[in-house]
Amino acid sequence: MSENLLDKVMAESGQPLNLCYQCRKCSVGCPMVDEFDFPPNMVMRMVQLGMKDELLKSKAIWMCVSCETCGSRCPNEIRIAPVMDSLRAQCLAEGVTPADPVTVALHTSFVDSIKTFGRVHEATMLMKYKLKSKKYTSDLDVGLKLFLKGKIPIMPKKSKNVAKVKEIFKNAGI
Ligand code: SF4
Ligand code: SF4
Repeated sequence: MSENLLDKVMAESGQPLNLCYQCRKCSVGCPMVDEFDFPPNMVMRMVQLGMKDELLKSKAIWMCVSCETCGSRCPNEIRIAPVMDSLRAQCLAEGVTPADPVTVALHTSFVDSIKTFGRVHEATMLMKYKLKSKKYTSDLDVGLKLFLKGKIPIMPKKSKNVAKVKEIFKNAGI
């Protein structure tokens, strides 16, 4: 149990988690709740109770798709997506084995691509994802269709603001 978890997550996410009173409106509206091991309202309670070990090992933190439905439904205007971001960052920073390594492989490949190019370059992101996840042959048919339609350019195109994007990552300590 971590006594500082609530303060840390509140500071990193900017969300008033201490106001959550378990009305469950977030969980009722969450489109991904069937994939979570703990529903969003329970994640909120676990943060309040400092259940860091259980949260960092949970599937829930990686299954959130940041759709913001919960934030639009919450009577206390708590957005859960940034809370999940904080918990994900802690999971990676502390070397905890994630509950869903394949999702983590996609997540880190996506973030690495933005960090490098200032935007996503699909080809290198997908290569990295395949290597990390070892899912070498999955979705090849879809990938080929996208490639033939010119949706996966081979050469990366850097953002004009790549230096600023790198700075954002640096300031965030990522
Ligand atoms: S909707 Fe808001 S107050 Fe209600 S359980 Fe979810 S986070 Fe807590
Ligand atoms: S932001 Fe995450 S937790 Fe909230 S409704 Fe969407 S998937 Fe569910």
